[in-house]
Amino acid sequence: MRGPAPFWIVKCPDCSTEQTMFSRPAMVVSCSVCGATLATPTGGEAKLRGELVRPVSG
Ligand SMILES: [Zn+2]
Repeated sequence: MRGPAPFWIVKCPDCSTEQTMFSRPAMVVSCSVCGATLATPTGGEAKLRGELVRPVSG
């Protein structure tokens, strides 16, 4: 069985920058360009505000 991808590429809803993030973050993930919130921690997989472009395996 394959587990969930550990990293995601997400697109910022405000400036469309694509950024790689950990799928299970411990803290809020912010856009590196404009500072918008991309994802918030839930204790498991992050709740995304940005768009998931694709998972990154390995
Ligand atoms: Zn942004």
